[in-house]
Amino acid sequence: MLQQVGLFLNPVGQRRVDFQNLCAARFGRLYLADGTEQAADLLAQQPVDLLVIDLERFDRNFDLLALRELIAARGAGRTLLLCPFSTCGWLPELLPCGAVDYAIAPLDDGELGALIDAQLAGVHAPDPDVSAMLAARDRVQAALAGADDSVAVGERLCAAMCGHDGVIHAALFLMIGDDDLHLSAQQSVNGFNLVQILNRGDRLLQSPLRHVLPGLLAACSGELAMLDAAAKSGDPELALTLLDKGIEMMVGIPLAPLAEGGVRGALCLTYGTRQRFAAATIAHFDALGQLAAAALAMAQLRRENETLRARLHHLATVDPLTGTINRRHGEQLLDLEIRRARRYQLPIALIGFDIDRFKAVNDQFGHPVGDVALRTVAEAAQAELRGSDVLVRSGGEEFHIIAPHTSAIDALKMAEKIRAAVARTEIPGCDRLTISLGVAQVADQESADALMVRVSAALGRAKRAGRNCVELAML
Ligand code: GH3
Ligand code: MG
Ligand code: MG
Repeated sequence: MLQQVGLFLNPVGQRRVDFQNLCAARFGRLYLADGTEQAADLLAQQPVDLLVIDLERFDRNFDLLALRELIAARGAGRTLLLCPFSTCGWLPELLPCGAVDYAIAPLDDGELGALIDAQLAGVHAPDPDVSAMLAARDRVQAALAGADDSVAVGERLCAAMCGHDGVIHAALFLMIGDDDLHLSAQQSVNGFNLVQILNRGDRLLQSPLRHVLPGLLAACSGELAMLDAAAKSGDPELALTLLDKGIEMMVGIPLAPLAEGGVRGALCLTYGTRQRFAAATIAHFDALGQLAAAALAMAQLRRENETLRARLHHLATVDPLTGTINRRHGEQLLDLEIRRARRYQLPIALIGFDIDRFKAVNDQFGHPVGDVALRTVAEAAQAELRGSDVLVRSGGEEFHIIAPHTSAIDALKMAEKIRAAVARTEIPGCDRLTISLGVAQVADQESADALMVRVSAALGRAKRAGRNCVELAML
């Protein structure tokens, strides 16, 4: 074993010295490099059995490509990555480049020494359990199908992961509403509640734990965070709490937003025992983050669609001036209600009314006052109706009321009440107004159109009779 050649790569002088002091004796020969160029030169000059890359202080933006090339150029030569727990986003990108193992930093001297010994003795990471991963992916996909809001997505996601593959608790953190992070869903096998650790379920960007707890870290940084021993968090209080709850390991998986302004957040998986994930499992975490983000984006789109559809329906069915049902929708409703009344052999009545001498209001007080008057009359009439009655603006200053379960006699009484109510209503900006009304109960076999014609004729008679009165339609 003593003949083996090692190369340790890290930009910080003190870290190279520390590694040399701790591990030089474990190698036949140990080289040190401060950057990827120097490392590449050394690797080109002689064979190196184990390349150790300490990722602390490397910059993903600047160094990733060079590190990938360095690892790829080694072919089957072994590389060990020491990866800070808070920035495990390196791993999905570097592990597939060659014969790479990783350990999550910080490591204490004993752990690092034992790790190097194991690497030199040829003990490497386990092979991936592909079938477990495929099962997990299928479970998550099945759970997410048809979840139609972000709450349902979160709950199903957590339920699909918790209790499988060593996960004892699964949680979803989401950026929502006021642009702060919230615990959106969680599921546990043993009743553990993450709020006990967080001390809160909302405004988590203000929690001091955002720098140490993997779920929060991943949501804040957009990077995979894997804490594989509670003490590595560097927060003794958190470490004690985690150990007290039987938690050894936590993985924070960032949601991968599909577009600028897309959903942001993270999944947080908690394990009772320390796990050694193979490269494929870590890639699977990445895929989970994408899947969850896509499901949340879909749910958001679906919700926006529903809101749009409701607005469209409102625009298509409601009269913008008075807020009553418009003519087109009123005609559909009348048809529907007549058919329903026939099916259940119940009476149904139609009342039509028209504001008396309304043209004079516009002429005398102006169109805006006329608009207010129209709205006020509609409100006065609406106030007299039951929940099942429908007020329709049929056009201009003419309205209809569809009154299910109502006979001609009852409709006459109702019309009289409405007439009196309008007559005593004060109209802002002008004098009181009156209305004339026509009333009919639908006859056997009578169509909606025929009913409308009869009501209109009755209304005409009311006008001719001097206005501000009710007339019953003839059969
Ligand atoms: P009658 O008693 O015979 O019904 O007399 P009238 O003046 O009410 O009848 P006419 O049909 O001649 O006039 C209806 C008026 O209603 C004319 C039109 O300017 C007015 N009008 C229709 N729609 C609106 C509206 O949306 N806003 C306003 N301000 N006026 C409207
Ligand atoms: Mg009129
Ligand atoms: Mg009119």
